[in-house]
Amino acid sequence: MREVFVNGQYLVEAEARISVFDRGFLFADGVYEVTSVLDGRLVDFDGHFERLLRSMEALEMEPSMTRDELLAVHRQLVRRNGINEGLVYLQVTRGVADRDFLFPPGTTPLTIVAFTQKKSLVESEHARRGLKVISLEDMRWGMCDVKTTQLLYASMAKMKAREQGADDAWLMRDGLISEGTSNNAYIVTDEGVIVTRDLSPQILSGITRRAVLQCAEKLQMKVEERAFSVQEAAGAKEAFVTSATTFVTPVTEVDGRKIGDGKPGPVARKLREIYLEESIRNAI
Ligand code: PMP
Repeated sequence: MREVFVNGQYLVEAEARISVFDRGFLFADGVYEVTSVLDGRLVDFDGHFERLLRSMEALEMEPSMTRDELLAVHRQLVRRNGINEGLVYLQVTRGVADRDFLFPPGTTPLTIVAFTQKKSLVESEHARRGLKVISLEDMRWGMCDVKTTQLLYASMAKMKAREQGADDAWLMRDGLISEGTSNNAYIVTDEGVIVTRDLSPQILSGITRRAVLQCAEKLQMKVEERAFSVQEAAGAKEAFVTSATTFVTPVTEVDGRKIGDGKPGPVARKLREIYLEESIRNAI
């Protein structure tokens, strides 16, 4: 059985317990990170750790574990669960307190939970055939740059996509795409320019986004950070999404309209290849 980490202890999952008064449960008062594991090592752990600190700071949560301590937890979980390929999920909540909208005192211990999932990431059907996405109104809250556990709207949007025979949804505000339900969104124009939304509170600053844009720069591809519409996406040469566990995955259809020739494009393929090479080389 899987071993998980709960507040300093490694436990088999059936024995792990969280209080019913945990603010993560009552208020979605928590933040999280997902780090992928390739060849038994962690991809961009430091990027995820830094973003965790930013999310916590935005919510006035005082970190109670250091980078090295959290890294050790990640590595322990990978080792104990024999993860060669998959992910480590980490969640930090404001802890346990009697239900009150006001935050409990800062001395209340945070709840820190982590677990692994074994998963084939490199070999993926979605990467091979490309994703179909639908566009939906972005009805999430206004602080999407903070990686909180309130994922209900994203989850509903993905369900709606599935009901309509698609794989994912692209969320839209004022007719412009913010991002996918759990990934950043990109198009490639006829001139070969990679376009993705500029960073703002409307999107999550993806750790993979940063790394992939660096790969694009090294390959001397042109990048524009700006918003784009569904119409522009439908008329684009190709499209793709990025996230820690899907890397670079092509998007071949939006709202039932084929993008380019409706097949995964060369820019997405190249970026996936280079991103994977770099990630495996730099994993710790
Ligand atoms: N946007 C959203 C809304 C997400 O949930 C994710 C995945 N956590 C991303 C973008 C991609 O971020 P990352 O590359 O850090 O996984």
